[in-house]
Amino acid sequence: MSDEAGGRATRWQPGGRLTDGFGRVHTDLRVSVTDRCNLRCTYCMPIDAVFKPREELLTYEEIARVVRVAAGLGIRSVRLTGGEPLMRARLDELVRQLVAVPGIEDVAVTTNGLLLAEQSEALARAGLHRLNVSLDSLREDVFEAIARRRGLDRVLAGLAAAKAAGFATIRINAVSIRGLTEGEIVPLAEFCRREGFQLRFIEFMPLDAEACWADERVLTGRDVRAILERELGPLVRVASGDPGQPAVDFTWADGTGRVGFIDPVSTPFCDRCDRLRLTADGQFRNCLFSTTEWDVRQVLRGGDETDDVDGAIAALLDDCVRTKRAAHGIGAADFERPARAMYQIGG
Ligand code: SAM
Ligand code: SF4
Repeated sequence: MSDEAGGRATRWQPGGRLTDGFGRVHTDLRVSVTDRCNLRCTYCMPIDAVFKPREELLTYEEIARVVRVAAGLGIRSVRLTGGEPLMRARLDELVRQLVAVPGIEDVAVTTNGLLLAEQSEALARAGLHRLNVSLDSLREDVFEAIARRRGLDRVLAGLAAAKAAGFATIRINAVSIRGLTEGEIVPLAEFCRREGFQLRFIEFMPLDAEACWADERVLTGRDVRAILERELGPLVRVASGDPGQPAVDFTWADGTGRVGFIDPVSTPFCDRCDRLRLTADGQFRNCLFSTTEWDVRQVLRGGDETDDVDGAIAALLDDCVRTKRAAHGIGAADFERPARAMYQIGG
């Protein structure tokens, strides 16, 4: 179970194969395994979400094939996400296939934690390196106001199970929304420090399905940090060993704990972005905010009428990378929200 400070520094590969027009080398692939979810977070999904038919989702064998081709082009880390990835049956079997792909050094999962108590041991046994658990509040009423379903007790049980299963690094991701989550910041930080979880605050991005995002609702990382320092004391910056890492990390002054900030709205990190995405229905995207997708499902299922399917996948990925824009453009006059929301893309 490698930690980013140790293992990830080597992944930056100037001159690697998946280099875009701005010289950014891509080593990280986010793979969504489903658009389904057992929560309905206001910042992500519509309350009446309609999901893709199962036959449109890539099979585990198809995902593993894409990852093998991507690894040959320089992808080194894979993060499984969704929707809720643990809702897909036997996710541990996909993890087992992916950790065995030559070149893949790091396989991680981002989950809402509701099904972790049942699955953390199987995931650990399959060789999963890292686990991110999304948790915005430790109060059931606030949790429910955000997620529109109950489940805090299950997330906490899932976190305890993940710890018991031996995951060395468990990170909690919390979305910050002005007027909603200010009161959750200090309790979350105290909880994570006490339990040994890393904590990351993420700015609210315009990727919600119900278009409730507004600039005024973005509680910036800077604001969150100010609240933490006022209530709990100074934070000290720690260096990340990975230039592609979007988070800015801190510890408490006594050297304990880890609190990070991912600030894509107030402080975009597009110039360092090393990520590509594969949606559950088999579309490559070069950015969360892409308005274009590249259909790898039809290549996998013979639509290209080529004998060299792996070559066609590689060509598609290469095309996807080469046309990546310099920046997401949130706040610019010509900014265009992507047609699909976060749960359909994979966060
Ligand atoms: N269901 C899993 C979960 O919640 O962890 C994985 C998928 S979820 C889309 C991945 C991450 O995206 C979560 O940490 C979630 O909080 C975050 N997220 C979703 N919508 C967001 C938004 N509009 N802005 C910022 N983060 C968002
Ligand atoms: Fe589900 Fe995760 Fe989206 Fe919440 S953020 S609705 S848990 S996919």
